Amino acid sequence: PIILAIETSCDETAAAVIKGGKEVLSNVVSSQIESHKRFGGVVPEIASRHHVEQITFIVEEALSEANLTFSDLDALAVTAGPGLVGALLIGVNAAKAIAFAHGLPLIPVHHIAGHIYANQLEKPLEFPLISLVVSGGHTELIYMKEDGHFEVIGETRDDAVGEAYDKVARTLKLPYPGGPEIDKLAAKGEANIDLPRAWLETGSYDFSFSGLKSAVINVLHNASQRGEEVKPEDLAASFQASVVEVLVTKAKQAAEEYNVKQLVVAGGVAANKGLRDSLEKALENSEAELRIPSLKLCTDNAAMIGAAAYTGWKSNKFAKLDLNGEPGLPLS
Ligand code: ATP
Ligand code: MG
Ligand code: FE
Repeated sequence: PIILAIETSCDETAAAVIKGGKEVLSNVVSSQIESHKRFGGVVPEIASRHHVEQITFIVEEALSEANLTFSDLDALAVTAGPGLVGALLIGVNAAKAIAFAHGLPLIPVHHIAGHIYANQLEKPLEFPLISLVVSGGHTELIYMKEDGHFEVIGETRDDAVGEAYDKVARTLKLPYPGGPEIDKLAAKGEANIDLPRAWLETGSYDFSFSGLKSAVINVLHNASQRGEEVKPEDLAASFQASVVEVLVTKAKQAAEEYNVKQLVVAGGVAANKGLRDSLEKALENSEAELRIPSLKLCTDNAAMIGAAAYTGWKSNKFAKLDLNGEPGLPLS
C-alpha cells in the first residue's frame, strides 16, 4: 500500500509517503527549533500554532515530492500519541479530514513504535528483538517477540535521557536542543570527572538520570565556590561516559538474556556519536545484530510513522473518525 503519514507530536511538522512499509517516496520535516530556542525548550502553545500554519503545506509538499495526488493513496497514518496534546490534535485532525474527504482508511500510530520502525526503512527488522528507546521523553528497553508486539521490560524512573542531555546543556549555557551540543563538546574533552552511574537493583532494566544531572550541577557549583574552573568539554565527556556506560551495559544484558536476533536503537539520542560508537564496540562479538538508524531517521519524522503503520495495515488496525490525540497513549 501507499501510505501518507503525518507526525506532529512535538515540535516538528512532518509528512511522508511510504510504499509497502519500507520504501520512502518522500519525507518532509519542518522543524520549529528556531522558534523555541530563545525559550530554552519547546513551548506547547507555540508548537501548536506552528503546526496549524505548516500542516497543509507540508502534506502538499510530501505528495508533490512523491509525484502523487490524494487519489493515489491507499491509507492515511498519523501519530495518535504520546506527545503534546495540542500538537497531536493538529496532525490527527488533518489526517481525519483527508481520510474522510478521500474515503481512505486511517491507521493510528504510537510515536515510539514509529521510532523503532524507523529501522525498518533501511533493513527488515528480525524478531525477537530488544529495542533501546532513547529520546526526548522516553528511555525504555522493549522486548518485541514479534511484529507489532511490545513488552516494556525497563524504563526511566525520572528523567528521559534526552531530557537529561538538554538540562545538563542548559547548565553549561549551551543552546537548545542541548543533546547534539553536549555530544560535540564531549568529543573534545576527557572523561576525567567522577560522576555516578545509576545501576539500580541487580537485574533491573530500569534507568535513572536525575541523580547524574544533580551531580553535574554540584560539580559546577562546588568549583565556582572554590573559584576553580571546570573544563566544560571534560564535564560533557564525563556526563556522556556515565550515560553511555549504563545504556550500553543494560541493553547488551537484555539482548543476551532474551536471546534476541537484533538490538534495535531508536529515538533522537540514537544520533549520539558516543552511544553509537560504544554500542558498536560492545556488540562486536554478540549474537545479536546491532541496528541503529541513519542520523536523519533518529529524530522525529513521518517516514517512521509510515513504516510502523504498515504493521497496523497488515493486521487491519484502523481508527474510526472519532480518533483523538492521546498525550499518554500506552505502547502495548
Ligand atoms: P519522544 O520521542 O520521547 O516523544 P521527542 O520526540 O521530543 O520525545 P526525539 O525527537 O526523539 O524526542 O529526540 C529529541 C531528543 O534527542 C532531544 O532531547 C535532543 O537533545 C536529543 N538528541 C538529538 N541528537 C542528540 C545527540 N547527538 N546526542 C544526544 N542527544 C541528542
Ligand atoms: Mg523534536
Ligand atoms: Fe520522538
